[in-house]
Amino acid sequence: MDFAALTDWYDHNHRRLPWRETRDPYRIWLSEVILQQTRVAQGLDYYDRFVGRFPSVADLAAADEDEVLKLWQGLGYYSRARNLHAAARQVVERHGGIFPTAYADVRALKGIGDYTAAAVVSFSADAPYPVVDGNVYRVLSRLLDIDTPIDTTAGKKEFAEAAFALLAEYLVRKGHRGAGLYNQAVMELGALVCTPRSPQCAACPLAGGCLALKRGTVGERPVKRGKTAQTPRFFHYLHITDEHGRTAIRRREGNDIWKGLYEFPLVETPTGAEFGTLPLPFADFVWQGSVRMPKHVLSHRIIHAVFHRITVTDLTALSLPDDWRVIPSGRLGDYAVSRLTELYLTRDR
Ligand code: SF4
Repeated sequence: MDFAALTDWYDHNHRRLPWRETRDPYRIWLSEVILQQTRVAQGLDYYDRFVGRFPSVADLAAADEDEVLKLWQGLGYYSRARNLHAAARQVVERHGGIFPTAYADVRALKGIGDYTAAAVVSFSADAPYPVVDGNVYRVLSRLLDIDTPIDTTAGKKEFAEAAFALLAEYLVRKGHRGAGLYNQAVMELGALVCTPRSPQCAACPLAGGCLALKRGTVGERPVKRGKTAQTPRFFHYLHITDEHGRTAIRRREGNDIWKGLYEFPLVETPTGAEFGTLPLPFADFVWQGSVRMPKHVLSHRIIHAVFHRITVTDLTALSLPDDWRVIPSGRLGDYAVSRLTELYLTRDR
């Protein structure tokens, strides 16, 4: 591989992003967690918010989980935010608030997998670990013309080995320096040139050694085995208001989507159901109508949600389940809610 052409290309073409201007492992980690499943433009805004509110890992560790989730609202995949918070606390407990740069220490933190650990230690300390994210899978599958599906155990192993071998070759040629630069360059090439559709092979610094380009298989790489099935779920939210301007919410607990977020009381049914068949914990109410939301698609689930608008006289006079909280309707914005609930609350604006 023409490593010099790759790093030259990177020097001249990479996007200037704040987490690339620092070697602070905390900020690099923060950006990596935010950028998983998130576009860079959107991620930038969240990165600034988090760095502004929590300039150090100790500040993040000291925060309340509700505040972290609220700041995260809109990014989705909330387990990332909960893990971020838990890992910050581990850094304080295990490392006295100094974010580690040894691979094993970083990898042992909550929510950090091989990819993020490699990114943090190579970008911050030049440690010799290759990053393998979606962009890198694509570049390597084309460069080496690998047809093993990337979403299989065999594929993951093969790509990890290929990534290690290429980085090792690079480091030997470069006097064992620059693992971070190399990793950034491969990732950026995947993001800007070797894109999923219409890769710009004519402008690619690696075109001379690209096997898929030579064999005409670029459009078929990378190979994926297939999508996981999406399970349908049927959510009925009870948007209850009373004559004192109050409403009821609850915090999602348990091992399920949106853990830690707030929502209106929920009745989940195995299939679609009419409002009249739902079990409600009180009898004296007026049904004002129901709002059926468009299908809400998550990675493994499709949520069919209906928000039922109900009025009662006085919520505090009712005997409600223990986990319900009665709050002024005007304070709903203080609570972190799922994108689905946000869409419902803002649908008429
Ligand atoms: S030549 Fe084309 S397919 Fe090969 S690495 Fe470059 S952009 Fe990707």
